Amino acid sequence: MKIPFLSFATSNEQIRSEIFENFQKFFDSKYYILGNGVAAFEKSFAAYSNTEHCVGVSNGLDALFLSLKVLGVGPGDEVIIPSNTYIATALAVSYCGATPVFTEPDPESYNIDPSNFERSITSRTKAVIPVHLYGQCCAMEQIMEIAARQNIFVVEDNAQAQGASFNNKPTGSFGTVNGISFYPGKNLGAFGDAGAITTNSAEIAEKVRVLRNYGSQKKYYNEVIGYNMRLDELQAVLLSVKLKYLDGWNKERQQIAEWYTQRLSRLEGIILPFITPGASHVFHQYVIRTEKRNKLQEHLQNNGIGTLIHYPVPPHLQNAYKDLGYKKGDFPVAELIADTCLSLPIYPGLTESEAGYVCEIIESFFK
Ligand SMILES: *Cc1c(COP(=O)(O)O)cnc(C)c1O
Repeated sequence: MKIPFLSFATSNEQIRSEIFENFQKFFDSKYYILGNGVAAFEKSFAAYSNTEHCVGVSNGLDALFLSLKVLGVGPGDEVIIPSNTYIATALAVSYCGATPVFTEPDPESYNIDPSNFERSITSRTKAVIPVHLYGQCCAMEQIMEIAARQNIFVVEDNAQAQGASFNNKPTGSFGTVNGISFYPGKNLGAFGDAGAITTNSAEIAEKVRVLRNYGSQKKYYNEVIGYNMRLDELQAVLLSVKLKYLDGWNKERQQIAEWYTQRLSRLEGIILPFITPGASHVFHQYVIRTEKRNKLQEHLQNNGIGTLIHYPVPPHLQNAYKDLGYKKGDFPVAELIADTCLSLPIYPGLTESEAGYVCEIIESFFK
């Protein structure tokens, strides 16, 4: 049996005719930038996120950057982010000229630890970015309480958890403004780069609309130094089709996770995903941990099973951030996760027998 780490084979077939119908409409509309397709998707994604506004932008990194930018984050400011996140979270802070301040995650959920977050706050802290890592919503009630008390903006990094929630409140609806990625491999993925921000503030939504489009409200009149960070009309049209399938696909991911958890929980020497009470998990990734990670990955590869490591090097140890002066040992939890984590195949269409085969090969490794 051959099981790739990620496959669009099943999900793409499900939507084939609708996608091509909508592509044809897009093609014939002859309107290719910020048309009705973007406006329609923004409306449906705002409704899905239970927020007043959604503004489509170019990708997830730009969504986070614009979120911080509209909040006035700039040089001299600190933004707290988890030490085990994808590099984009840190880069968005750097783009603003501010300093990313890493804080250790909860070692069980891998999400930002509320007490560590509070301990990392200084007089320069302007914002915190909880990252809903691997698809699980962060402990948002505690984070919102601390942020409100300490007068700090919350910007959710909702790149990996579209459809997740905390006590039934959706991701992307907690922060003042939140960034989303629709990179193809995310739970809701475009056919190229795409992203969005969600917010309940009309003023912030309008500011992002201006910034994403050359700082202009009225064509050829530029109010501020803006950017070209628009959501592509074609991507918006196709995302509107896929959005209708998101909940169903997330349910499939949760079912696959259950198959894995049921069978793998009998094994010793392997740590399975932990779900924080109150949080929901839409399993963007199903991440296990073991001291024998590299050997297990090789064993799976030799048996036709693709896996990935999310992520092998935490941001504070990346060459790009050497000027921040961190060294190995500064964030032991993030480093331990980086050294021991392994993401198993999980995507809509992965069958029970395929999940069973993955488990069987993992069992044979530990025997
Ligand atoms: C994918 C991702 C991003 C960036 O999204 P892009 O659309 O690739 O720019 C940001 N943060 C996290 C946690 C991600 O997984």
